[in-house]
Amino acid sequence: MMHQHDASMEVLTQAVLRYSVERMRLDPPPLDAGRPASDLAAMAGRTVTPNGIGGLEALRVFGDVLAPACISVDHPRFLSFVPAAPTEASMLFDLVVGASSIYAGSWLEGAGAVFAENEALRYICDLAGLPPSSGGVFVSGGTGGNLSALIAARWRWRTRAEGRFDRVRGLIIGSSNAHSSIVAAGRAMDADVVEAPADERGRMTRAALETTIDALSAEDRERLFVVVATSGTTNAGVIDDLAGVADVCERHGLWMHVDGAYGGAGLAAPSVRHLYDGIERADSFIVDPHKWLFAPFDCCALVYRDPFEARRAHTQHAEYLDVLHADDHADEDWNPSDFAHHLSRRARGLPFWFSLATYGTDAYRDAVEVTLQVAHAGAELVRAAPHLELIMEPELSVVVFRRLGWDAGQYRAWSDRLLRDGTAFVTPTGWAGETVLRYCVVNPRTTVADIQLLVDSLADAPTGGSV
Ligand SMILES: *Cc1c(COP(=O)(O)O)cnc(C)c1O
Repeated sequence: MMHQHDASMEVLTQAVLRYSVERMRLDPPPLDAGRPASDLAAMAGRTVTPNGIGGLEALRVFGDVLAPACISVDHPRFLSFVPAAPTEASMLFDLVVGASSIYAGSWLEGAGAVFAENEALRYICDLAGLPPSSGGVFVSGGTGGNLSALIAARWRWRTRAEGRFDRVRGLIIGSSNAHSSIVAAGRAMDADVVEAPADERGRMTRAALETTIDALSAEDRERLFVVVATSGTTNAGVIDDLAGVADVCERHGLWMHVDGAYGGAGLAAPSVRHLYDGIERADSFIVDPHKWLFAPFDCCALVYRDPFEARRAHTQHAEYLDVLHADDHADEDWNPSDFAHHLSRRARGLPFWFSLATYGTDAYRDAVEVTLQVAHAGAELVRAAPHLELIMEPELSVVVFRRLGWDAGQYRAWSDRLLRDGTAFVTPTGWAGETVLRYCVVNPRTTVADIQLLVDSLADAPTGGSV
C-alpha cells in the first residue's frame, strides 16, 4: 500500500515538485523567523497519527507553518554566522539524489556516484595544490570532517610510535581562534587541545606556534600529534600563517590539518589566493561546499594528502564487509566509508558535482570574487560612516565593525528588530571581549545596497527596551 504509486500519489508528486521549484525560484525568499514550540504545536496540530494525515495536508502544514518558522539561509540579507547560497542546479540535483537510492559508502554499490564525487574532490585538491594522489570523501559538515582528519592524524602518530603511545592521550594544537569543533573533537577523542595565542588580527603565526610548542614539557611534546590551522576563521575570516605552520610541522614531524570549512572556498578566487600559500603542504584539509561553494546542506569535502594512510585509520572491519573487499580490485576500489568516521552515506557530493559540471569552474571563481567585492565594498561604506568603525581590514568575506556608543543590549535590540521586520538577519558577535557587529557574505545575490541598508539602519539608536 505505502509503496504503491496510485492516482493520489501522482497528485502528491506534482504538488511536492511544484512546491520545490517554487521555493527554489523565490528571489528573494521571505526571510522568516523562528517561533516557540508551543506556537508551532498549536498551529500545526498533531501530524504523526496512526492513520496519517495525508501527504497533501502534511505538505500544507510544512508550507504554511513549519517552513516559515525556519530562517531562509539563502536570503541575500541573511548575513549572520555563515549563510548559504546553493545554485539552482545543485538544488535540483539534490532532488535527483534523494530519488535515486544510492548507497555511496562503497564502490561496490555506488561506483558511478563515487566516481562523480571524486571528480568534485579533485577540483578541491587542485585548488589547494595537493598532489594527484590526494583524495578523500564528502562528510556531513566541518565538525565531522575535522574529527575524522584528527583521528587519521592520531593514528599515524601512534603507528609511528609502534605501540609506545597506544594508551597515551594525544595533544592537539590549534589557534585560540580555531573553530569550536576542534575542542569538540578533542573531547570526543579524549585528547587535549592546547591553544596557540592568535595575534591582534586573530591569526596564528609561526612565532606563536613555535613558542607554544617550546613551552610544552618534554612529555607533552611527545603527545603532540597535529597542528590545526584555520584558513578563514569563522568570526573574522582571517587566514593563519599556513606556510609558517607548514614549516613548524615539518620540523617536528607533525600532521598539519587545515580547517577551511568556511574560508577554503576563497582558494577559487585569484584575488585572495596568495593568502593560502602553504596550504599545499597540508596533510589534510576540509572545506564546506554548503557554506561558500554554493551547494545545499550537508556537504563537507575532507581531503588527505595520503588517503591510504587515512583509510588505515578509518576502515571498519566486519565479516560481511571483509569478504567483499578480499577480491582483486580491493586496492583500486574507492570506498568512501573508509575515509571518515561513518559507514552508510548519502552521495552528498553529487549536488555539488552536478553544479560544477553544469556551470564550470570559471563560474565558481567569478561567484566567489563577486562576494569578496561586495564584502569589501561594504567595508568601505562602514569606514565612511561616522557612526561606525571598522575593526580590521577584511581578508575574505567577513567584516567586523562597531557601532560607536552602543552596548550589547542595543546591538541585540537592533538585530531583533531587523529580523522581526523581515529586513535582515545580522547577529552581534564578540571581539576581544567587546560586543560588536559582523556580516558574512557568501551569496552572490547580496549587493552593496544590502550592506548600505544595514549601515543606514545603524544610524539611529534603537528605541524601546525590547532587549
Ligand atoms: C562552520 C565551521 C566549522 C563547522 O562546520 P559544520 O559544517 O557547521 O560542522 C568548522 N570550522 C570552521 C572554520 C567553520 O567556519
